[in-house]
Amino acid sequence: MATPPPRTRSPEGNLGPVDATQVPRFAGPGTFARLPRVDEVDHVDVAVLGVPFDAGVSYRPGARFGPGHIRASSRLLRPYHPGLDVEPFGLQQVADAGDLGVNPFDLDEAVAAIEAGARAVVEATGARLVTLGGDHTIALPLLREVHARHGPVAVLHFDAHLDTWDTYFGAPVTHGTPFRRASEEGLLDRAASCHVGIRGPLYRGLDLAEDRELGFQAVSADEVETIGVAGVVERVRARLGDAPVYVSIDIDVLDPAHAPGTGTPEAGGLTSRELLGILRGLAGLDLVGADVVEVAPAYDHAELTGIAAAHVVYELLALLADHRRRGLTPTRTR
Ligand code: MN
Ligand code: MN
Repeated sequence: MATPPPRTRSPEGNLGPVDATQVPRFAGPGTFARLPRVDEVDHVDVAVLGVPFDAGVSYRPGARFGPGHIRASSRLLRPYHPGLDVEPFGLQQVADAGDLGVNPFDLDEAVAAIEAGARAVVEATGARLVTLGGDHTIALPLLREVHARHGPVAVLHFDAHLDTWDTYFGAPVTHGTPFRRASEEGLLDRAASCHVGIRGPLYRGLDLAEDRELGFQAVSADEVETIGVAGVVERVRARLGDAPVYVSIDIDVLDPAHAPGTGTPEAGGLTSRELLGILRGLAGLDLVGADVVEVAPAYDHAELTGIAAAHVVYELLALLADHRRRGLTPTRTR
């Protein structure tokens, strides 16, 4: 039987990634950032959970392979985040919860299983979830789980697309509809939710008006250019206030030059530096959960999309660690 890989334990008592001075980064376990699995640690503050599911896509399939690709591209992540002066794997116990095995043929069954699977991890560990998709359909069951614990939350949604359309081919639950369903179900705080990175052609002008009625403000990709990262952070923080925040990141918010490996690419998107900078600007906000979705590795080149997604996850983990360090008031729970 193989001996456990050498890991460092932080002063806070948390078990970190495999020691890269002893096991090269291209070797060792295939967990996110080579972190321990949830069954290898005695407590979990943040669980990284894979949801390999893409039966809700409308164009290119393949996001079912997203979790594995993001994990493979996360091997080079190091323990210290200079931007926030924080050790995301040291201040909190981060562990990989593996993948949910959900039905690829029955969308309704899968959506129910994703909610139940997320709930099982949270109830077993008490952890906050950072979920690796999967297509954007998964945000709906994840928000249902979050709502059951926190009530309505502010949703900060990064995407080229609104994802508040009504139906496709009569289907109400798809990767283009999760935030309309979430709004209808009362899962989101309609006074505090926001899209960032919206661009490209719509079906009709009315889409934007309907989206506002559903509870979203939008910062378009063009506005990211004109007001800059600092301006976006200001707008977003003003909108979110001090509400608990769920962050949902469709990797297609990035320009196809920065993230070609995705299902519905749109020209004119954010750079990965802009996205990382905006996320860093959210320090201090109370993240109750997050997802990174729509990574479809079959269309990726040179791991561009996988590396971008892995760094986005790292940024989210850094925000969670920073919040813990500040000792801010815990989120209200029901
Ligand atoms: Mn999208
Ligand atoms: Mn989306």
